[in-house]
Amino acid sequence: MSENNDKKIVTRFAPSPTGFMHIGTMRTALFAYLWARKNNGTFILRIEDTDKEREVAGAIEHIQESLKWLGLEWDFGPDKNGPFGSCIQSQRLSIYKEYADKLVQKGLAYGDPYTKEETEAFRAQADAEKRPFLFRNHRPEKFENWDGTRPLRLKVSEIKRYKWHDVVRGDLEAGEEALDDFVIIKSDGFPTYNFAHIIDDHLMGVTHIMRGDEFISSTPKFLSLYDALEIPYPIFATLPPILRDDKTKKLSKRDGAKDILDYREDGFLPQAMINFLALTGWNPGTPQEFFTKEELIKTFELTKIQKAGALFNETKLLWLNHEHIKLIPKDKLLEIFKGIITSYNGTVISDEALGKMMPVLLERVQKFGDLKEMLSNGEIEYFFAKPTYKKEGLVWKDESGFENTKQYLTKALNAFEKIALNDWNAEALKNSIWDYATEKGRGAVLWPIRYALTGKEKSPDSFIVGSIIGKIETVERLKYAISLL
Ligand code: GLU
Repeated sequence: MSENNDKKIVTRFAPSPTGFMHIGTMRTALFAYLWARKNNGTFILRIEDTDKEREVAGAIEHIQESLKWLGLEWDFGPDKNGPFGSCIQSQRLSIYKEYADKLVQKGLAYGDPYTKEETEAFRAQADAEKRPFLFRNHRPEKFENWDGTRPLRLKVSEIKRYKWHDVVRGDLEAGEEALDDFVIIKSDGFPTYNFAHIIDDHLMGVTHIMRGDEFISSTPKFLSLYDALEIPYPIFATLPPILRDDKTKKLSKRDGAKDILDYREDGFLPQAMINFLALTGWNPGTPQEFFTKEELIKTFELTKIQKAGALFNETKLLWLNHEHIKLIPKDKLLEIFKGIITSYNGTVISDEALGKMMPVLLERVQKFGDLKEMLSNGEIEYFFAKPTYKKEGLVWKDESGFENTKQYLTKALNAFEKIALNDWNAEALKNSIWDYATEKGRGAVLWPIRYALTGKEKSPDSFIVGSIIGKIETVERLKYAISLL
């Protein structure tokens, strides 16, 4: 059975509330979202909380917060019921029960009559005989009335080879060994994932299922259940795993995979994050790498999702983030910077000073977290405080000597002092000394000036720094340097 193609496209993101939003999980959400939006379809957020033991308090809020941060708004979700009812599985138990009863009535499901120990003994016996353990080999001959206290198992009625199509992986198939009488309702009354997701996808009108490759091996079981329930198959799109740097394994928590909201904490932009996630496993087929959300919605194609594992490339994430930061309007950026650096060692930094520093900071900031770090590691301390250094540092590659260096700095001091306060800018500073520096050697002249202002081997050039710290401060710093020599 295949799905009618004229139907409105419906996708869903169906996380379990376990408290951790892995970037791979968020990528699944993004792809499902993009496909729905591209087709003017519906995107559903469904909470799969049928495993009460794994559930973590606050996880549902965490899921919603993560999606909201990325700007992946849902049409129906835990906060908004659909025409099909709640989007939280634990609130849909009567629906699963109804479907389970139908299967029981049709003789397609039965209460598991065995104790845990008995099942274990079957398994041990199969192991000893070196054959796979299949519950269906122990299926009871007569099904007792199911009273709901025993796990309910599906009777896999057609033991056959299953073939199915996956938009990403192509034609897939699996043999009888993948089929078994699996549990659909547990003894606590909750459905299993295998059962609940199929009913929900059906009732919610889901047309496309996007999920990780760990579900491929279970697909024959799902198909046997679709058949038993007489539900048409949706379209399957298996997303590639996200691999850690050395490509040998899936990126896991242990390899430093972070929760998505940790990236927010670290000063990544949501628009950069979705740009990055989209490129992790999907390829537009052009060299374009920078995408806005709107461009992604327009360009996204299921057929361009790659089969092979996608590398988690943090360098690319940083680069993309920087590119997205650069697009933020200046006044908005100033607000963001102000939210991060308001003072240095107790001294309030004025908007004007921050505004002047912005271009310099912007070049160095890949994520906003870098700003804090630059402040705390002293990298840009010279903007706020006089530098401390040894006089040897002022001399360009030893060859200039103290005397020459003193002469260069004096020349610069005189030239800078002549610049009127109103004209004090990087251009004017540069013009006042450039010819002299060219004549005497740019390195020999410009190095000590810059060093006198910053006390650093590496920094923006002295004209920029001088223009930011102002005339009085520049003059004072040059005088101090001269006094050392
Ligand atoms: N609740 C499942 C999970 O979190 C969802 C899998 C699916 O999308 O079908 O892995």
